Amino acid sequence: MTPRRLLLLGGTTEALALAERLAGDSRLEVISSLAGRTVAHRLPPGRVRVGGFGGVAGLKAFLDAEKIGLVIDATHPFAAAISRHAASACAEAKVPRLQVLRPAWQPEPGDHWIPVPTMVAAAAALPDLARVAFLAIGRQELAIFAGLKTVRLVVRMVDAPAQPLPLENATVILARGPYGIASEEALFTEHGIEVVVSKNSGGDATIAKLTAARRRGLPVVMIQRPEAPGGDHVETVAGALAWLKAQ
Ligand code: NAP
Repeated sequence: MTPRRLLLLGGTTEALALAERLAGDSRLEVISSLAGRTVAHRLPPGRVRVGGFGGVAGLKAFLDAEKIGLVIDATHPFAAAISRHAASACAEAKVPRLQVLRPAWQPEPGDHWIPVPTMVAAAAALPDLARVAFLAIGRQELAIFAGLKTVRLVVRMVDAPAQPLPLENATVILARGPYGIASEEALFTEHGIEVVVSKNSGGDATIAKLTAARRRGLPVVMIQRPEAPGGDHVETVAGALAWLKAQ
């Protein structure tokens, strides 16, 4: 039997776990796709391609050329463009698509979250909240915080920036999760952090900063998720395996 080709859109722990679970399954040939934004420290097993497809048209052409029979979009909840493109391209190519979307974090007693709809709103909220802010938002949208004159920024990112950051007033910390609660608290103390800015990414790898903020009574400016494109979706790798079984 010819194996069915599965395109696995990745860049997350779920995508890596799924690729590892499917390695060796003779019914499927998995092609993992990474955007190539960060230096991958662990590549998924099997075939891996890196870089954008070129929008919906490029992705549709890839699905056709590679005779892709199934798509699993296991990209990050904030990777809205690729998820939208996957939904459109799969609809056009009539390829079944599943989105793996981990649950959003929910506030717990003792949390002081300030929900905001966008990164722009997060930046606008900061001057009234604090003089030192911890930004755990990656580096792609840092320019939005450039105009803040009264807030010192402590910015954490995975890889050293190739270009100088678009920020005058920032301390850069290079680190890759998962992080621990004690080390997050130590970091907040060391840098005198008064507010944390976070995307509502969900998952375990980066949740420690929220627990640390709760323990220290710090507010968290929590950026809400962009809208997902809809269609089949599950929250976990196990859910994705069940969906695959049903296909
Ligand atoms: P995005 O805004 O949705 O995507 C921007 C463009 O990057 C897409 O239009 C697509 O280019 C390309 N792209 C994104 N993911 C891709 C993939 N898995 N394979 C091939 N091309 C991809 O995405 P993003 O927020 O920049 O995230 C990029 C990657 O980092 C994603 O794979 C995501 O899972 C991962 N990630 C994102 C975050 C986050 O906070 N956003 C956090 C952790 C990991 P074309 O239009 O040319 O196809």
